Amino acid sequence: MTNQNHQQSDTLITQALGWVDEASDALTPSIHPGTCFLRDPRDLHRAGRSFQRDDNPTFARAEATIAAIEGGDDCFLFASGMAAATAVMHMLEPGSNVVVPSHFYSGLRTWLVTHGARWNIILHEVDYSDFSALEAKVEECRPKLVWVESPANPTWRVTDLRAVADISHKYGALVVADNTVATPVITRPLELGVDIVLHSGSKYLNGHADVVAGALVIGRDQSELCTRIAKIRNDYGAVLGPFEAWLLLRGMRTLHLRMRAICDNAMQIASFLEGHLQVAEVIYPGLASHPQHVLATKQMHDGFGGMISFRVDGGEEAAHRLAQSTKIIRQAISFGGLESVIEIRRGMEGPDSKTPPDLLRLSVGVEAASDLINDLAAALSR
Ligand SMILES: *Cc1c(COP(=O)(O)O)cnc(C)c1O
Repeated sequence: MTNQNHQQSDTLITQALGWVDEASDALTPSIHPGTCFLRDPRDLHRAGRSFQRDDNPTFARAEATIAAIEGGDDCFLFASGMAAATAVMHMLEPGSNVVVPSHFYSGLRTWLVTHGARWNIILHEVDYSDFSALEAKVEECRPKLVWVESPANPTWRVTDLRAVADISHKYGALVVADNTVATPVITRPLELGVDIVLHSGSKYLNGHADVVAGALVIGRDQSELCTRIAKIRNDYGAVLGPFEAWLLLRGMRTLHLRMRAICDNAMQIASFLEGHLQVAEVIYPGLASHPQHVLATKQMHDGFGGMISFRVDGGEEAAHRLAQSTKIIRQAISFGGLESVIEIRRGMEGPDSKTPPDLLRLSVGVEAASDLINDLAAALSR
């Protein structure tokens, strides 16, 4: 590693920090499938590893690269985004108060109200666009943890991360930001005062829809936190496989290029949809009509991400018809891959979802923008 602090993110991601494999001199990252590591005659592990559940050499470069591009000190890979998120929850004592926003990833919300409740986690839901309500709640319940996601899936509500971090820290809470949607190309929450960044690596970091992975990135000077997270990962055992860690890193090396192409496509598509007579509402942080557009222009750099939600005239039935009639854009779950996918989000979120039943969620890929626009235009006219 040379001059890493002076290098631009683009260079760091492209070269995966420029490490050279010690055994082979290869520039390209290597896979180490071995699960057991040698003990020397004094019964010590020379490489600091004993078994693959506590650490794996294939993790190191992917973790260091994610930490570098997020501006963190350390990073821990997990078997999925959910495994990373629940590792944070498992750091809490039973009976802890946790403050969550009114909009965030539904899978985690479901976990909190079912399994989290059995762990006796007490959830407090607050509208983070109202800082005085947030501060009043944090002051009242003194949470151990404040969770934030910006832009939040699937409403793409943008939250002022610095304000949330400042309010939470005033009352001693740990702040975790889910940065899956923005990615570090667009927003770096640790630089805004957040303590831990969460990623579902299954989305943009990997970017090819061929890996399920998660990551926690820890801010500066939090070695005690790192020790606790490493122990939880090892003890609960939700570790990533070496091949998946390698695939994640392989995909990640083009993150900056993909995000730029995706943001560019998404902006064109959002503008097209907003101008279309049959489209009732478009939610995209890059549009001036987005309720937090001004904040988005400050907090999001180099673009506004690849996620658009929209509603068409004719309600739920028309939404289903549209999702079934695009040809290039296929109907599928998840987001962040190379190819564009669309889905009606409500059906995925369970019975207590607050998402409108006609909300279409579009993950914009890197296809030609004109093909995607023509595809949507044809589907809208059907
Ligand atoms: C998908 C997702 C997760 C969960 O990640 P998995 O890798 O699917 O477990 C968490 N947060 C957000 C915002 C997501 O989109």
